[in-house]
Amino acid sequence: MTGGNVLTMIPSRPCAEAVAAKGDRIVKVGTNEEISQLVGETTEIIQLNGKTVVPGFIDSHIHVADFGRLLNWIDLSDANSITEMQKRLKTRVEQSPKGKWLLGRGLDPTRFAEKRFPTRFDLDSVSPANPVVFYHQSGQVCVVNSKALESAGLTTLTPVPEGGDIDRDAETGELNGVLRDTATNLIWNVIPEPSEEELLEVACLACEKIVEAGVTSVHWMVLAPIELSIIQRLHTQNMLPLRVYVVVPENILDNMKGFQPTGGSELTVGGAVISADGYLAAKTAALFQPYTDGSANGKLLCTQEEMTNTAEKILKMGLQLVIHAMGDKAVDAALTAIEQVSKETPRKDMRNRIEQAAVLNQGLIKRIKQAGVIVSVQPLVVASEFSVWSATENLGAERARWLYPLKTLLKKGIRVIGGSDCPMEPLSPLLGIKTAVTRKAFPEEQVTVDEALCMYTVDAAYSSKEENIKGSIETGKLADLTVLSNDPKEVLPSEIEKLEVEMTIVGGRVVYSKH
Ligand SMILES: [Zn+2]
Repeated sequence: MTGGNVLTMIPSRPCAEAVAAKGDRIVKVGTNEEISQLVGETTEIIQLNGKTVVPGFIDSHIHVADFGRLLNWIDLSDANSITEMQKRLKTRVEQSPKGKWLLGRGLDPTRFAEKRFPTRFDLDSVSPANPVVFYHQSGQVCVVNSKALESAGLTTLTPVPEGGDIDRDAETGELNGVLRDTATNLIWNVIPEPSEEELLEVACLACEKIVEAGVTSVHWMVLAPIELSIIQRLHTQNMLPLRVYVVVPENILDNMKGFQPTGGSELTVGGAVISADGYLAAKTAALFQPYTDGSANGKLLCTQEEMTNTAEKILKMGLQLVIHAMGDKAVDAALTAIEQVSKETPRKDMRNRIEQAAVLNQGLIKRIKQAGVIVSVQPLVVASEFSVWSATENLGAERARWLYPLKTLLKKGIRVIGGSDCPMEPLSPLLGIKTAVTRKAFPEEQVTVDEALCMYTVDAAYSSKEENIKGSIETGKLADLTVLSNDPKEVLPSEIEKLEVEMTIVGGRVVYSKH
């Protein structure tokens, strides 16, 4: 490719005009002139016309299978009427076998011309034979059709669960299909799990969307054992358009035994996660001092000894040790485990990683640095903790100040890697970069565009011990490249997410092109 603005991510030579690739590797990076000398008869030339090339983005935390499942749901977020909602449902009914559950998301009745919440009767007229569940955009309310009520065994006699509600028709007293809060579980628990074939199909769809977003490698955060066979099948059937680094929860480590990638850089068995605590939003992240309302301070999910033993087991298997730790008490325990396993069996080149490391303090930051721990964050999760969850209110100003202090971590020389946590948060790495750069709460912790790019390229590659083959644009590395409509360092930070991904290249092969 030639005639572009190539951001190499190599400090000594940050910019170039052209890149030459042969097979799956980069063979030269330089000026248009230098690269033109390599052009032969069969060379395929991509004219960049001034567009910007960056190393292919690496998403260090994405739940690919869940993302796929959700892609298969009917998107109702832009439906403006009940009629439109029914139209979309009708199309799906026509494409689906009788009896298959049809799920939808993003319902927003405030947009509806009819100015009312839909009921089961609106769904029944279109789908009498397929159970239907449509979720409100909040996820806290859903409307289901009669077939779904029947499948779940819900009748007027069903007791209303605590903390929830089952709506009834004001005149007849019949269930109208609307379930609220904990009552939504009555339906959720009976929706059948997708088959392996269905999962395979949606995972493929997810991978397509991921490369469209400019991502060339993912750290696939596995949640269920079935995903391992999906990944393996995608790989052996050559259906993976991107590179996958697999990270599994430690409780399914035994399922890894049959999981043998055939080598190469497309699929790597990566790491295993120990969950030290829960989540801030649920007030299950473990804190030394209670949340400000005094209600709770979260619990560690295992004892220190258990954590250290599991950490040792993970390292013995040759996997990356990943510990999910959100609260300061959990981060402390994670660091203790890491310090212990490092002392007992010194190993060369460990790349231990803490997922989140949200609530920190000076002492913890010092220990993270000393232990060489990599911190994995998702900038959109950071933003949500402040804007959606009101971290300052729930933790108090002092602790909120040290919530995700990204700039401080970078200044100390700690490696921070970026991910999306998709589908919980949007996929786009450009949106992630923009969010890290324009952080609103405690803006002193904003990072530069260069630093944010590093989180999604150079440092993410380091985390998976792949810094020799990816993360920057230089001779000998894999030709994993993303072409953007403009230079993220040249546009206003607020505009970064609007840059378009023009092309995604994995191993020299174009896997996505806008045109
Ligand atoms: Zn996650």
